[in-house]
Amino acid sequence: MNIESWQKKHSYNPELFGIAKIVLEEVRGGRRLDRALRAHTMDGGGMMPKHVLIAAYHELVASGEWQEDSTLLSRIRMKPVRTLSGVTTVTVLTKAYPCPGRCVFCPTEAYMPKSYLKDEPGAARAFQNKFDPYNQVHSRILEYAAVGHPTDKIELLVLGGTWSAYRRDYQLWFIKRCYDAMNEGTTAEPTDEGVQPAENNQINLTALQHAHEINEMAAHRNVGLVIETRPDEITPAELKWLRQLGVTKVQMGAQSLDDRVLEMNLRGHTAADTLRATSLLRAAGFKIVLHWMPNLLGATLESDRRDFLRLWQDGYAPDEIKIYPTQLLETAELYHYWQRGEYTPYTTDELIQLLADLKATIPEYCRVNRIIRDIPSTHVVEGNKRTSLRQDVLLEIQRRGKSCRCIRCREVRTSKVDVNELKFNDLIYHPAYAEEHFLSFVTPQDQIAGYLRLSLPSPDAPRLDMADLANAALIREVHVFGQSLAVGSEQNGAAQHIGLGTSLLKKAEEIALAHGFSRLVVIAAIGTRRYYQSRGFTRGELYMVREIQPAG
Ligand code: SF4
Repeated sequence: MNIESWQKKHSYNPELFGIAKIVLEEVRGGRRLDRALRAHTMDGGGMMPKHVLIAAYHELVASGEWQEDSTLLSRIRMKPVRTLSGVTTVTVLTKAYPCPGRCVFCPTEAYMPKSYLKDEPGAARAFQNKFDPYNQVHSRILEYAAVGHPTDKIELLVLGGTWSAYRRDYQLWFIKRCYDAMNEGTTAEPTDEGVQPAENNQINLTALQHAHEINEMAAHRNVGLVIETRPDEITPAELKWLRQLGVTKVQMGAQSLDDRVLEMNLRGHTAADTLRATSLLRAAGFKIVLHWMPNLLGATLESDRRDFLRLWQDGYAPDEIKIYPTQLLETAELYHYWQRGEYTPYTTDELIQLLADLKATIPEYCRVNRIIRDIPSTHVVEGNKRTSLRQDVLLEIQRRGKSCRCIRCREVRTSKVDVNELKFNDLIYHPAYAEEHFLSFVTPQDQIAGYLRLSLPSPDAPRLDMADLANAALIREVHVFGQSLAVGSEQNGAAQHIGLGTSLLKKAEEIALAHGFSRLVVIAAIGTRRYYQSRGFTRGELYMVREIQPAG
């Protein structure tokens, strides 16, 4: 199904199209969208849905009647915030499969990967697509395009239990099919390969590498590949495998840094395992996302406050964090503890107070991705049922006259950026076995326009069997904010196109040289390889590499 037929199926009818065209013309002429929509309601008086407007816009452009108009498109786009951070995230789920974990808080649902419920938004889409990776990616790209989001830069987020527990032939097939969907874009028909690689369809690493090469110039380039796993699955060999797949970021459940709490919740690993895993990931240049859970069995409000500080004081220092307050669900073992009176969920107010305390302590180099999981509140037996917890916590922080300085709270969104006004910052911190430099450009309003994570491994950092990494300083992330523009297009003041990335790379090189490193490597997502190539990097075995030496 191509984009036009998708739009026709979902929204196109000549009468609606006529009204949509009038609304679009008025908005193009400067009228506010809400006013134009109110002035031209549909039969029966309802307001026209935005997806119909977007479909009509595409129709007008495709027919040649109108030129592309990115300003108009950005004014009618649905949920513009989703792509404001510069990339479009496509979430896919792996098939149902046993997880080595036995965590008491983790829900189980038939036909779903461990810990996911059928009616969580991303999970529902995966279920409808029978967990087929190609169809999940393909349909999501179509949906984004149809509602006016750019789809040229895709971060692929692979969820579902513990990635490393899946068989490697399944992993290879799954990732290859995701790339196939990004490579074939919006013009190919979805496949019907079901949830398993067919026996005669075994994918080998060479086939995946071929798909990678195609993606370097594809319409939907992969700018990040994320998997989720457990700390005790992270080994040097596993990291090498993840690089071969193209993974750039790893999400791990730390959940707690207190061995007593970990044991009570049957996590099956210790805090030391999490520290070892974060150190290995850092030494290999991966971006690190930790999940942390307040209100686990055995935790108290006070122990949670202490536990959270360990993230920053004891060497873990994740780049991003997802705070998932424990939710009491009937299909989790924890439910029986609650029935026996051995577990009590925090109240919504206790949780808001706790999270407001914690959020205000998060260092500037970390991004808080979530502070509650997307589980529909109808599943929650007792305790907080509010899904708007992030807003509640931010309001409480404001009420206290404080602010959160995490990346998400400070990133440039729709604001225009004047490059001459930006200030350069080098924030140095010391997680286990590394010196980190969080380099950023900041606006006079204290918003982050772009940043780079440079990791300088300590002499005693874990050794990894990857030749690219010898005497190398590692660039773990380069992120320049702004609406993710079509490659080659321009938008006045958008931070992505005013050379911030190049400036950050230059600064990183200077710092690496000053610390005695002779090589700079980047954990480049497949679709960003060409970008680094054009900035003097060459392909190593698994990273983009540049030998560096002092000028003169
Ligand atoms: S490791 Fe993760 S998916 Fe597995 S049981 Fe524990 S929480 Fe659930």
